[in-house]
Amino acid sequence: MAIETEVLVLGGGPGGYTAAFRAADLGKKVTLVERYPVLGGVCLNVGCIPSKALLHLAQVIYEARACHAKGIRFGAPEIDLAEIRRWKDRVVKTLTAGLAGLAKQRQVQVVQGVGRFTGRHTLEVKAPDGEETVAFEHAIIAAGSRPVKLPGWPEDPRIMDSTQALALEEIPKSLLVVGGGVIGLEMACVYHALGAKISVVEVADQLLPGVDADLIKPLHQTIAERYEAIWLGSKVTSVQPAEQGLEVRFAGPNVPERQVFDRILVAVGRRPNSDLLNLEAAGITPDARGFIPVDAQRRTKVPHIFAIGDIVQGPMLAHKASHEGKVAAEAICGLPSAFQALAIPAVAYTDPEVAWMGKSEAELKAEGIEYDKGVFPWAASGRALGIGRREGLTKLLCDRKTKRILGAGIVGPHAGELIAETVLALEMGADAEDLALTIHPHPTLSETIAFAAEIIDGSITDLYLGKKVKPA
Ligand code: NAD
Repeated sequence: MAIETEVLVLGGGPGGYTAAFRAADLGKKVTLVERYPVLGGVCLNVGCIPSKALLHLAQVIYEARACHAKGIRFGAPEIDLAEIRRWKDRVVKTLTAGLAGLAKQRQVQVVQGVGRFTGRHTLEVKAPDGEETVAFEHAIIAAGSRPVKLPGWPEDPRIMDSTQALALEEIPKSLLVVGGGVIGLEMACVYHALGAKISVVEVADQLLPGVDADLIKPLHQTIAERYEAIWLGSKVTSVQPAEQGLEVRFAGPNVPERQVFDRILVAVGRRPNSDLLNLEAAGITPDARGFIPVDAQRRTKVPHIFAIGDIVQGPMLAHKASHEGKVAAEAICGLPSAFQALAIPAVAYTDPEVAWMGKSEAELKAEGIEYDKGVFPWAASGRALGIGRREGLTKLLCDRKTKRILGAGIVGPHAGELIAETVLALEMGADAEDLALTIHPHPTLSETIAFAAEIIDGSITDLYLGKKVKPA
């Protein structure tokens, strides 16, 4: 017999489970279909959470090393890979068990299996133990994305995507990271700290393309010292598996003609999973890049079907998906919700971390918006010096006339935590003076946000600005 439900949510990642829980809290009967036996999706099981657990270990190793120059010497770390894997898995299990509990408390029905639409109001679920049909009044598609595969590459277990890299089967002597984006650089950090020699090949002319170059510089300089090579404007032309390793040929300005690596991580972006859902049966057509078109409520052109997260336009980030999930659930329940975020922060949890939000300088220039900039170098922050991180910087961008915050970028430890204040400032329509007059605790890294605002405001005393001082 078919399952009948008011709200079907397809996909149990951060977008999907948030949507399901919100709809249930608003009184709907909710069925959540997830292909894996646990909730949490890529983020929780094979993405954000396990990678951050491993990045924490990398940070501890780097910190311990940095203490050498400060009078405390630890021996070389002993790496117990099996224990590391167990610890990472425990972190993930605690969270997935928590999610299962939250679903149960709300009486959200979780159905395990792979879902495909069979009509505008029906979904077929192929479960490990048979098939099931779900008849729904409303649906929220939250089926996510998967890694892009480079065409023509051989199948070889030593060529990994992010999921395989997180499995941490071994620490290779040499690892080639293809793609200098967020995943590539975060996993490079983990593998380097655990002992691998890292080379990065990136097709664009900078790491983390799209982020302002001044924010990338401290990261680039740090990892250029640690890694074997960072090849920009370059790509792999062929990979030849051999017994002694993977023989790689490159094209680019400074690349070697060929080099052998023990393993390769391919992290060249992700693509939406819209091609796996038989969407035409539901009357939905994705765009040329596979994204499902939606309006501000995340409603598709079929009015009772919504879509959120990586499968719709916008940054492929868990925190964007979860906010969209709430909007879609609330819209289904008749609330006047809409996704109207003015800024979605992004963080590369590298060492140093890089975080950014709002407009970049490049975007402001391209859009012809006149702006003022305040850049506070962490070399002038007592707290940053005390933790040995003078390479960091905090940058604020604001409208030249109104001085309202338009964008921000932070480089250095905890940048990902610090950026949240600037997002709030932007959302609240704060100007530079609001941030400058907000008393920040001393000595903290958070002060650097106030200092950057004081630079724009002309009231800074922790740096000397000469003639740019705000008049009395
Ligand atoms: P990405 O788009 O961030 O980076 C991919 C990089 O690969 C880009 O720099 C691109 O120029 C490069 N590239 C593309 N083709 C190439 C080629 N043939 N050779 C060399 N370089 C090539 O994608 P990703 O790092 O795979 O991450 C996927 C998604 O997951 C992103 O949308 C990201 O936002 C998200 N994610 C976010 C976080 C985070 O927020 N910390 C962490 C992991 C993943």
